[in-house]
Amino acid sequence: MAGKLYLVPTPIGNLGDVSRRAAETLESVDFIAAEDTRVTVKLLNHLELKKPMVTYHRHNCDTAGPGILRRLEAGENCALVTDAGTPAISDPGEDLVALCAANGVAVEAVPGPCALTVALSVSGLPTGRFTFEGFLPLNKKNRKAQLDNLTTEERTMIFYEAPHKLRTTLDDLSSTFGPDRPMAVCRELTKLHEEILRLTIREAQSHYAAQEPRGEFVLVVAGCPPQKAEGGETAALVRAEQLREGGLSLKQAAAQAAEEFGVKKRWIYNQIAEKADESL
Ligand code: SAM
Repeated sequence: MAGKLYLVPTPIGNLGDVSRRAAETLESVDFIAAEDTRVTVKLLNHLELKKPMVTYHRHNCDTAGPGILRRLEAGENCALVTDAGTPAISDPGEDLVALCAANGVAVEAVPGPCALTVALSVSGLPTGRFTFEGFLPLNKKNRKAQLDNLTTEERTMIFYEAPHKLRTTLDDLSSTFGPDRPMAVCRELTKLHEEILRLTIREAQSHYAAQEPRGEFVLVVAGCPPQKAEGGETAALVRAEQLREGGLSLKQAAAQAAEEFGVKKRWIYNQIAEKADESL
């Protein structure tokens, strides 16, 4: 009988956040697949555990994944851990989960620390609906495309960012959402120097123009105010054009913009089709 892959979250800064179940799972498995064994050994020492480990990280996941799968299929149990937080969230753990799922190997997630939920919950921004954007792409074109897709996003948006890219990202957020959009800059969560700044994008830009960004960051940005009421038709047209530039057909773009802005699909379709005719 095949074994099981356990996804075991680890603290994002405070060792006290390792749960009893996480510790018991680490103790019970046959081996641990770790992003960096040097980091994980510190946690194991803290828990007074010794366990065989293999590495699984973004530079070796294509070759290490099938090796782990074979051991699981042979009946061993494995705990997947990363340096910090919940495996498979913005790290290659997602590929290992997909590989196990595709091969009928059971995966069990142990709940625990995750920077995105910690940041969202403390942000002071609406939490009812949100979108997790992870790290923005480095490639300029892909980055712009991802941000352009968010211009009319009404849900709270969450981004991960590294300190040396923070200033550029704040500038990009300002160009996309406008400098007055409220946001929360969540730095060094659960650590000694945890800092939560609730301000506008412009204020965050000024703050980090004056001081070097240091530590780990999650950026939580308020969604745009609902656009269905006044100006909904214009916004729906803009949105439909954007969706077409993104590759949707006129019919698909009109349908999606209609849904998002509560405007009639046929009306959007006709407006854009007429404009196209005029420009011929
Ligand atoms: N799997 C992890 C999780 O559950 O949050 C995220 C891994 S991702 C490779 C690392 C990013 O998470 C960092 O660049 C930062 O944006 C965010 N992060 C992790 N720990 C953090 C902390 N203590 N404070 C703020 N952000 C943190």
